[in-house]
Amino acid sequence: MAVRHRAHRRPRMYDPASRDANEFIDDAEIRESLEEGKKLAADRDALNTILEKARLCRGLTHREAAALLYAEDEDIRAGIHALARRIKEHIYGRRIVMFAPLYLSDYCVNNCRYCGFHASNKTARRRLSQEELREEVLALETLGHKRLLLEAGEDDRNCPIDYILECMRTIYGTKLRNGSIRRVNVDIAATTAENYRRLKEAGLGTYILFQETYHKPTYEFMHMGGPKANYEWHTEAMDRGMLEGGLDDVGIGALFGLYDWHYEVMGLLLHAEHLEAVASVGPHTISFPRLLPAEGVDYSAYELVSDRDFKHLIAVTRLAVPYTGMILTTRESAEFRRELLDIGMSQMSAGSCVGVGGYAHPGCSRPGETPQFHLADERKPEDVLKGLVRDGYLPSFCTACYRAGRTGDRFMPLAKSGEISNCCQPNAMLTFEEYLLDYADDELKALGERMIAEELGRITSEKRRAQTAAYLERLKAGERDLRF
Ligand code: SF4
Ligand code: SF4
Repeated sequence: MAVRHRAHRRPRMYDPASRDANEFIDDAEIRESLEEGKKLAADRDALNTILEKARLCRGLTHREAAALLYAEDEDIRAGIHALARRIKEHIYGRRIVMFAPLYLSDYCVNNCRYCGFHASNKTARRRLSQEELREEVLALETLGHKRLLLEAGEDDRNCPIDYILECMRTIYGTKLRNGSIRRVNVDIAATTAENYRRLKEAGLGTYILFQETYHKPTYEFMHMGGPKANYEWHTEAMDRGMLEGGLDDVGIGALFGLYDWHYEVMGLLLHAEHLEAVASVGPHTISFPRLLPAEGVDYSAYELVSDRDFKHLIAVTRLAVPYTGMILTTRESAEFRRELLDIGMSQMSAGSCVGVGGYAHPGCSRPGETPQFHLADERKPEDVLKGLVRDGYLPSFCTACYRAGRTGDRFMPLAKSGEISNCCQPNAMLTFEEYLLDYADDELKALGERMIAEELGRITSEKRRAQTAAYLERLKAGERDLRF
């Protein structure tokens, strides 16, 4: 008689190429990596070996990154932070890409505990009409912006995909003198492959979707209702977009403060490894929004991240995924944003408004309306730019890659090898020169022209230096939109 064995479940193996969110964001793999990382962090030689590898600018595995996350020694941390800055400058140069978020609609059917737009918040809601949107875009163009990030809550009735597509057409079609929006990135809820395809056809730059938290039980606790409460639908969105919807560039992010930050960094890195495994292209950007303590809000259920740890986790991420654009949000104070730029951030927003209709009518929200969160850096864009130049950064309004078709698997090899800086640096100079000519006050003009002259001298290729100098002269003579 045959002996019947009890069916044993095979231990699940971490599979970065799986299409199941529960397997590519594998909880057991994250926990094992963190346990191993804790032990390795006590071994200075092991940490130094990992840092040697990071110096090659080819990235780290999530297991190696886990060890660096747990490094507590101040010298080691300082070394990691300095290396993060060097890697960013090797890949992207001294440029910082500028963008502005634009809120289209605050209707939302989801109930996310941490967000002012959540459905059970009985606040006055609205979406921009196309006329109001045109006013917003004109206001943003008057500020010199060329790259926007569209934001909208999820509500198929009040804010369907057709509305988003119409807004994209309006934005690309709205011009003011030399002003135009040249790249529209979109941050809307996880959607279908068909809708991703339509966004791409309408001229989408990067599709951005934050995971919020990679820890599934916390995800389910934080999302009390609405389509976003479906963890798999949300977490597998980039797969639908890239593998079925034809998206080239996607941006991921976690909202730090919802769960243990070590776990969230592992989640981001597993997600990056997954995208590499299934689409051969890692995330185009990673964003680092953080919950900050606010008066009158009970944060006892949250795991707020200190400034010290936040800096550290950003630096480790830069070492692990050197090629990715890293985005700094306006939730951080002006002073702290400076420190974060110093450890490898490559994009930031300036003069942001986080309410619907706030650029044309400053003050952001109307009575009864709630912004999505509160800004900590409320400086005018011009003051942000002056600060950057004084700190030795080159502000950039560049949108060249997307428009030259350098996206997805055409962009990644250039970013991974650092060759992209041969485009980033001159394009930053050209787009900053446009800004100086069209929008800057005398003080910024003087600061900026000095910096551009210095940067020109730093271009090592004689041919590229001469081309850049010729383009700068043509801009001064009235041409616009010259790029490499
Ligand atoms: Fe809606 Fe997004 Fe806010 Fe959630 S985070 S309530 S989905 S706007
Ligand atoms: Fe971004 Fe490409 Fe411009 Fe560099 S050249 S700033 S990567 S768009």
